[in-house]
Amino acid sequence: MFQLTPHPIDLNALSLSLKESKAGALVTFEGWVRNHNQGKPVSALEYQVYETLAEKEGQKILTEAKEKFNLHEIVCTHRHGLLQIGEVAVWVGASASHRNDAFLATRFVIDEIKHRLPIWKKEHYLNEKPEWVSCKDHSTHVHFKEEDYYRKQKSVVDPFSLKSKRVAVIGAGGLGCPVLASLAAAGIGHLTVVDFDRVEISNLHRQFLYTPADIGEKKSTVAAKRIAQMNPFIQIKAVDQRFNAMNGLDLIEKCDLVLDCTDNLETKFAIHDLCMSKSIPLISASIYRFEGQIRTFDRMQEWGCLRCQFKETPSDEAIGNCNDFGVLGASVNAMGSLQAGEAIRFLIHARNASSKETIYFDLNSLSAMKIKNKRKSTCTTCSLEAHLQKNEATDHTETERIELESSELSGNDELVDIREQNDTFLDDFIHSKKRVVVFCHRGIRSRRLVHQYRERGFHHFYSLTGGACSL
Ligand SMILES: [Zn+2]
Repeated sequence: MFQLTPHPIDLNALSLSLKESKAGALVTFEGWVRNHNQGKPVSALEYQVYETLAEKEGQKILTEAKEKFNLHEIVCTHRHGLLQIGEVAVWVGASASHRNDAFLATRFVIDEIKHRLPIWKKEHYLNEKPEWVSCKDHSTHVHFKEEDYYRKQKSVVDPFSLKSKRVAVIGAGGLGCPVLASLAAAGIGHLTVVDFDRVEISNLHRQFLYTPADIGEKKSTVAAKRIAQMNPFIQIKAVDQRFNAMNGLDLIEKCDLVLDCTDNLETKFAIHDLCMSKSIPLISASIYRFEGQIRTFDRMQEWGCLRCQFKETPSDEAIGNCNDFGVLGASVNAMGSLQAGEAIRFLIHARNASSKETIYFDLNSLSAMKIKNKRKSTCTTCSLEAHLQKNEATDHTETERIELESSELSGNDELVDIREQNDTFLDDFIHSKKRVVVFCHRGIRSRRLVHQYRERGFHHFYSLTGGACSL
C-alpha cells in the first residue's frame, strides 16, 4: 500500500500493520530530514507533490516490488508539506519469509521512489533564500565539472565534438553493453538504446551492464539507467521494442550513426536495408565463437553493401549465432569495444579508416584480416545509378493504384491475411518476388499498411478492396 500524508508518520502503527506469523523478517527504511545539504545548513524542508500521479506511480512501484521479490507485504508512506529537521519524510517496510527478499525489496522501492515520483523539494536554509532542489538520490548529484570527467580523453578525442551527435544502438546484449558503456563514457550527446529483451541469468557472464538483481527487467531500461549513472552529462533514451522495418525509421531517422549490435540475421538485414535506403551510416558487428567482424555501411561512399552479396536474407540456421553456439565474455566485449572505437572515429571524421573493408578478427590468435567491400554495379540497394533509376520508377508509380479487386487476383499472387496479425507481420514479405496482396476484414487496415510499405519503397504490396468479404 502506498500513501501520501501531510501528517507525521506513525512508525509503530506501520510496523505493526506488517506483522504476521508467516513472516520471518521485516526490513524498514526511514528517510530523515537532515540539517545540511551540499555544504549549506538546512532549517526545514518542504515537499510539493502531484498527488494523483504520485499515488498511481507509488502503487505501481510497490506492485513491481511484489512481482520481483518474494514478499508478504510492502508499504510505503511519503510526507508532503513542511517538515522540520529530524522528521521522517519517507518510510518503507517490507515483510517476507526470508530477510534477503525484504532487504532487496526495501532498497528497490526507495530507489524507485526517489527516481520516479513527481515530488519536488524546497530546501529552507539558515542564512539564504529557500531553493527548489532535485529529489533524486544524493549519490547521483553531480559535484564535479564536465571538463574533469573528460580530462584524460581530451587530447585524443574532444568530447565536446561528440556532444551534438545522435547515435542509436540496436541491441543491448553482448556487443551492446561494451558499445553503450564506451559511447556514453566518450560523451556521445544523445544515445538511444533499442532492445526488446529482458535480462536472463545466462546473459550475465558477458553483458556487464546487468546484475542478478536485474533478472526479468527490460534490458533497454536497465542499460540506459547504468550508462546514465556512468556519465550524467549525456541524454539517453530507452526503447523497449524489437527493431523492424516499420518502427525502424522513427528510431533512426535523426541519427548521425546507427550501431547494429544484434545477433540475428533478420534484424541485421532490416537495420541495414533501412539505413541504406535513408543514407544513414551504419556500423555493424557480429561474433561467432572466436571469429568477429566489423563493417561500416555508408551509401554516400562508393563501397558495397550487404545486398551486393546477399540478395535474399540468409537464415540464422545457415550461419549460426552466439545464442546457439556460445561465446566468451572477454571476446564479445573486445569486439564491442572495437566497434565503439570505429563509431567514435567515424563521428569525428565522418569516415573511419576501414569503411571500405570488412575487418575479420580471429580472437584466438589475435590476428585480423581486411577484405574490400566491392560494390556491385547492379545492386539496387547501394549503386547510385540503380538507386536513381529506382527513384525515377518510384516517381512514375506515385499515382499507381495500391488496391486490387478480387477479380484481378491471379494464381501467382501471394495472398496475405492480416486479420489475426500485428502491423509488422508484413515484414516477412518485403523480399517476396511475388505480388503481395494483403487483406483484412474490410480493406481499411490493409490499405493503410500497404500505403506505409509503399512509402518505404516496397511496391509489390497491394491491398485487397473490400477485404475478406470480397473473397
Ligand atoms: Zn550493394
